[in-house]
Amino acid sequence: RKADVECRMLVLGAGPGGYTAAFRSADLGMDTVLVERYESLGGVCLNVGCIPSKALLHAAEVLVEARHAADFGISFGNPKIDLDKLRAHKEKVVGQMVKGLAGMAKQRKVRTLTGTGKFISANELEVEGKDGKTLVRFEHCIIAAGSQPVKLPAFPWDDERVMDSTDALELAEVPKQLLVVGGGIIGLEMACVYSALGSEVTVVEFMDQLMPGADKDLVKPLADLLRKRGVAVHLGCKVTEVKAKKDGLHASFEGESKPERSKFDRALVSVGRAPNGGKLDADKAGVKVTDRGFIPVDRQMRTNVPHIFAIGDLVGQPMLAHKATHEGKLAAEVAFGEKKEWVARVIPSVAYTDPEIAWVGVTETEAKAKGLKIGVAKFPWAASGRAVGIGRTEGFTKLIFDEETDRIIGGGIVGVHAGDLISEVALAIEMGCEAADIGHTIHPHPTLSESVGMAAEIQEGSITDLY
Ligand code: FAD
Repeated sequence: RKADVECRMLVLGAGPGGYTAAFRSADLGMDTVLVERYESLGGVCLNVGCIPSKALLHAAEVLVEARHAADFGISFGNPKIDLDKLRAHKEKVVGQMVKGLAGMAKQRKVRTLTGTGKFISANELEVEGKDGKTLVRFEHCIIAAGSQPVKLPAFPWDDERVMDSTDALELAEVPKQLLVVGGGIIGLEMACVYSALGSEVTVVEFMDQLMPGADKDLVKPLADLLRKRGVAVHLGCKVTEVKAKKDGLHASFEGESKPERSKFDRALVSVGRAPNGGKLDADKAGVKVTDRGFIPVDRQMRTNVPHIFAIGDLVGQPMLAHKATHEGKLAAEVAFGEKKEWVARVIPSVAYTDPEIAWVGVTETEAKAKGLKIGVAKFPWAASGRAVGIGRTEGFTKLIFDEETDRIIGGGIVGVHAGDLISEVALAIEMGCEAADIGHTIHPHPTLSESVGMAAEIQEGSITDLY
């Protein structure tokens, strides 16, 4: 069968990994085709992930700040929330970004094909779109088909009151009682949004801490503030069944700490994401896919088939947009012939909750489990003039050092803008900095970024008494 389209590079999936790979590949001069099943480019991140969630979190932050302002003598009336306008704002933000991407693709002469792609052979992909099937023959391929929410079978998914993250971002209504199943980053971000908008939120988490993966001390200020704002948090608790009835969703729980309430108006199930690797007929191209749907790759993002690469959520954790973009760029460059491999030492994680939680490199929990000899320096934001000034002293900045070399190997920050502040720690780890390198770097005063310098100075011993 004759191919309808021939190209040097085919990228399957237009999320942050895929569009970055396609743009880099085109910039390097490769004739590039980008296949995406939806009309809009940007994948989960832009359409139903990072960007819309942050637009809504900003609205939540404004609401919380406005209430908070009463503490220093500025009172606003009761906020009026126009849900249609808020939804329209979120859609405008997404639309603007999607339009930008389409423009960038056009400018680079990346050919986009809308439809669902499946492999036919190691050099052919069939794309099924509205107008029929298109056969694309490629020299190189980068698979960037991402992931989707895990759908627990205990939930009646055909009822619209049972939501995954995509549904929750739709903002159909502000439910009076919202059950959030899963206290990870996505669940807690949405808990912050809905709680600020006026829902009574109950979070249940199976593990014994919220946001498993982050150090417990980092999560505590968030948990405390959530509870203070009326969010009920139940750890070590499992939802066993949810029945959809006319008057609400009736949930049964198991575990030490169970919610008293069993009836909810809506439920958000945010228990993780599953890779899409198993849905591409990858075996027809000879590409190995694990039972769980991940595609194994080497340090150059190559699958077991040398001219086929895979990137982003479907190659493994952490499922984060900035990991996907980094991998996308690398895969395109390697396919072009550059002799490169994955060199990033660390990938930062951020929860854009209120307060934000950010961490990078080795956590204290991991260090202890691995028996690493570490030093830990913690700077409490109660001692930061800026944090006191903005009334947000619940945060702290923590640096983790290798005891022998004094090099920074990890760090965590909890507090407002922690996500923006963590990059300095990531850079310090990448550059092999010691405490003194950061301590001797002059940080502007009064900023929250000073807290990183202060933590380093505590480690160095040049600050011993904070008060
Ligand atoms: P995706 O973004 O999943 O893109 C894959 C694309 O491939 C999709 O567009 C899909 O339609 C397409 N596709 C799949 N199969 C086919 C096929 N057969 N044919 C054609 N097209 C196909 N990460 C962060 O770093 N920061 C955040 O703040 C953040 N917030 C998030 C909030 C939420 C609510 C969610 C759900 C996720 C969030 N993430 C965040 C995670 C982030 O969205 C993902 O890590 C990122 O989108 C992964 O990029 P990707 O390119 O691997 O795949």
